Amino acid sequence: METINWSDLTFGYMKTDYNVRSHYRDGKWSDLEITDSEFLNLHIASTCLHYGQESFEGLKAFRGKDNKIRIFRMRENALRMQESSRGIMMAELPVELFEKAVVEAVKRNERFVPPCESGASLYIRPLLIGTSAQVGVKPATEYTFVLFVTPVGPYFKEGFKTTPVVIYREYDRAAPLGTGTIKVGGNYAASLVAGTKAHEGGYSAVLYLDAREKKYIDECGPANFFGIKNNTYITPQSTSILPSITNKSLIQLAEDAGMRVERRAVPVEELATFEEAGMCGTAAVISPIQRVDDVAENKSYIFSADGKPGVICEKLYKQLRAIQYGDAEDKYGWVTIL
Ligand SMILES: *Cc1c(COP(=O)(O)O)cnc(C)c1O
Repeated sequence: METINWSDLTFGYMKTDYNVRSHYRDGKWSDLEITDSEFLNLHIASTCLHYGQESFEGLKAFRGKDNKIRIFRMRENALRMQESSRGIMMAELPVELFEKAVVEAVKRNERFVPPCESGASLYIRPLLIGTSAQVGVKPATEYTFVLFVTPVGPYFKEGFKTTPVVIYREYDRAAPLGTGTIKVGGNYAASLVAGTKAHEGGYSAVLYLDAREKKYIDECGPANFFGIKNNTYITPQSTSILPSITNKSLIQLAEDAGMRVERRAVPVEELATFEEAGMCGTAAVISPIQRVDDVAENKSYIFSADGKPGVICEKLYKQLRAIQYGDAEDKYGWVTIL
């Protein structure tokens, strides 16, 4: 067996020993299938290839100081994947089968769960695709669920720090009544042009505005947005934002810390009033924002002149990480210990 250099890990793909699958046929999901193959045998007319019948999820498992492995809020991911299925007319995977697949894949790839001190974790990627052969535009009758895992490095290799993000008013991520609220590959395909341009411009992400009026903050490409002011945690509400499980968790922690929480439309000019701002998602938990450049308006909103994260971002980040690694009490039953 090859040895893994845990400190070299990035957010990339590494082959592990097994992945698990289930197939939907004749109205029924099959028992889990365990395989060491990294490939799928797909029909060329599968609906996922032509009409984007695909959804995915992302969650993580962590090894604590006690050497136990903890999986964070997997039931939430199972429920969200069902929501995605309803959004693009795919068969819904039962929650229990989703959870069983997660546990099975993590257990069988236990040697890939990084040691606690590395700050790395095991990324879990479930995906669901339409697989029956069709050329007419209609939902598939058969589906395949695949779940694989891969070890990933800590998001913050040189410590918790801020990055700049950008508003490009000439791009939208999702339509107001479109697929923004579900986790489908199509949303990501639609964000690649703007996302690549942002990276080339030295930004870590695009901050999208509402597509209809360009007045309100929506979310970043792969992460929700929040701002902090007057001991209040403010996060946008709209009909095109993906409900982030990390955001939901941070809201709970903010309330527990005695902060007020507001979920509402956030006008872009309000950026000027935030003491701190951040992006949140499974990959980083919180990625604090240094500044937002609104290119077309020639405006810059600065949250951190010296590049250091704000105190509230740092506190919430550390608290959530502590729960994930088992260093803090899991008051809400968010963690599944293997
Ligand atoms: C997955 C995702 C997020 C983050 O969700 P988490 O459950 O916190 O990982 C945010 N925005 C979009 C568009 C996403 O696809």
